[in-house]
Amino acid sequence: MASKRNRTTRVTELADPAADRIARRLAAWYRQNARDLPWRLPPGSRARPDPYRVWLSEVMLQQTTVAAVLPYYRNFTARWPDVAALAAAPDAEIMAAWAGLGYYARARNLLKCARIVAGPLEGRFPDTLAGLLELPGIGPYTGAAIAAIAFGRPEAVVDGNVERVIARLFSIDTPLPAARPAIREHAARLTPATNPGDHAQAMMDLGATVCTPRAPRCSACPLAADCLARQRGLAETLPRRPRRKALPRRRGLVYVARRTDGALLLETRPETAMLGGMPGFPGSDWSADPAPAPPLAADWQPVPPGVQHVFTHFRLHLTVLRAEVPSGATPERGAFVLPGAFDPRSLPTLMRKVHDLALADPQGVQAAGR
Ligand code: SF4
Repeated sequence: MASKRNRTTRVTELADPAADRIARRLAAWYRQNARDLPWRLPPGSRARPDPYRVWLSEVMLQQTTVAAVLPYYRNFTARWPDVAALAAAPDAEIMAAWAGLGYYARARNLLKCARIVAGPLEGRFPDTLAGLLELPGIGPYTGAAIAAIAFGRPEAVVDGNVERVIARLFSIDTPLPAARPAIREHAARLTPATNPGDHAQAMMDLGATVCTPRAPRCSACPLAADCLARQRGLAETLPRRPRRKALPRRRGLVYVARRTDGALLLETRPETAMLGGMPGFPGSDWSADPAPAPPLAADWQPVPPGVQHVFTHFRLHLTVLRAEVPSGATPERGAFVLPGAFDPRSLPTLMRKVHDLALADPQGVQAAGR
């Protein structure tokens, strides 16, 4: 049985004395300051967290804040407490539960991955980075995080928070993304063989709560004595980033048809399109010069001011057109859905904006159709 001393020693000695000191100080800080998050175990736990919950949280956290993820994580784990339950869920239910969290390819890959794990892999996630990387939706960052946190593999986990801490700690002034190989190298050098999951989460927490993008709290930082950026007065300027280019603009048209019985015309967006697999109102392509594509003949009326939305790679302005149509209307695409069978919360954020604009005035559709 391990002695108490061994149980409280969180870090195996690293060959590099400076790296060893940094890892130990970080581990001590984490024991006092770890964020209490529902997918985690307390620091130093001898048990391992459920790989399903680690995987689910890490996929949700891709490009997304902890605060935004928390309600989704709680809802998913309440409805689908294990990977078998998630794999058995209908696609539309998962996509509806994901609505509003964004980056919808993650939800499609989540389902694909769950079905592989629950099926051919007989309910077990691979316990190595190489095995995890074989699964849909798991890239190098997510794979390293699951391998370290759920399986205790000494993989270096480098998300945006960790990138910032390392760039400052070692005063790496090469701009991103060129700095990434050096950052990864330093992160790997600091990663201990024991409790690498705690180490990874400690780095993330330090970046999220102390070594923040603006006004880092260096006086409260356990790594301040070793931090080169602090010594050089560069903390807030690192990591350096190339100047952002203005996002290109695209336009589109979207059609909100409401039948006299209140049914709305909806469609499932094509898998390969933006917001693929999610419900939405039919519309045109999104481009510099979109072609009109009404789903049925009607007296379409514009609803100013339209809808603005910013995606990672472009800004979109949608012209919203609405019409009231007779009960026998036959659309060329999509299907009419009665109000009781449709929850606007199942729409992705962009389509919810369209819904709210077009239907804000309950008389609006009718008035526009007159
Ligand atoms: Fe970040 Fe300051 Fe700590 Fe350096 S000393 S790692 S800049 S919080």
